[in-house]
Amino acid sequence: MSDALATTIEDLVAANRILAEQGVVDGYGHVSARVPGKTDRYLLSRSLAPASVTGEDIMEFDLDSSPVDQRGRQMYLERFIHGEIYRKRPDVQAVVHHHSPSVIPFGIAGVPLQAVYHMSGFVAGGIPVYEIRDKDGPATDMLIRTGPLGRSLADVLGVKPAALMRGHGAVVVAPSVSLVVARCVYLEMNARLQMQAMQIAGPGAKVNYLTPEEGVAAVDSNDFLRAWDLWRKKALGQ
Ligand SMILES: [Zn+2]
Repeated sequence: MSDALATTIEDLVAANRILAEQGVVDGYGHVSARVPGKTDRYLLSRSLAPASVTGEDIMEFDLDSSPVDQRGRQMYLERFIHGEIYRKRPDVQAVVHHHSPSVIPFGIAGVPLQAVYHMSGFVAGGIPVYEIRDKDGPATDMLIRTGPLGRSLADVLGVKPAALMRGHGAVVVAPSVSLVVARCVYLEMNARLQMQAMQIAGPGAKVNYLTPEEGVAAVDSNDFLRAWDLWRKKALGQ
């Protein structure tokens, strides 16, 4: 195994544990990374609660989300989210799907998520909402179980860093594992803080969010590596 692959697998194990520790995922949700040097392959745990994931559990998939070597292991039903986003977005190196609680209301209430502070500047460019009924009719179980559903989600995500999934959760993407983890943590935090700001302001009052320009500047000024190094050490017991 190459050093780059070993590091990516270790990052992915840490990411699973960090997202669980931070309350972004519970028994459900998953995080993947593209295989270093292989644009058409990605790494994702076998079907397991994220807090329990070890290096042994990481499997390799192609962009159809078929396993390269399944060896009888059970797979996440919604792995198509990952394959179809990697296919559509060459810039993306890591993907998280989660049901992070504070973001759920913004997928159903018709109130857009907006950037409340510099830590979530990536929100300021707008976060689209995916409606599964548009693709799969009025009575689905809400899950992205097939390639075509994954493609429809990737289409709604477009070039954005995240998309909410109505009545379900969200998908978050980034050019690195460290950045996708930070985005998930601060997306959840942003949703919570936005609800508080809206409550304090009261019905109909204007909340003073970051502008898209401030969002871009905030994104450029913070790589979150200080937080990532701390989280990663703790997660791997170092
Ligand atoms: Zn889900």
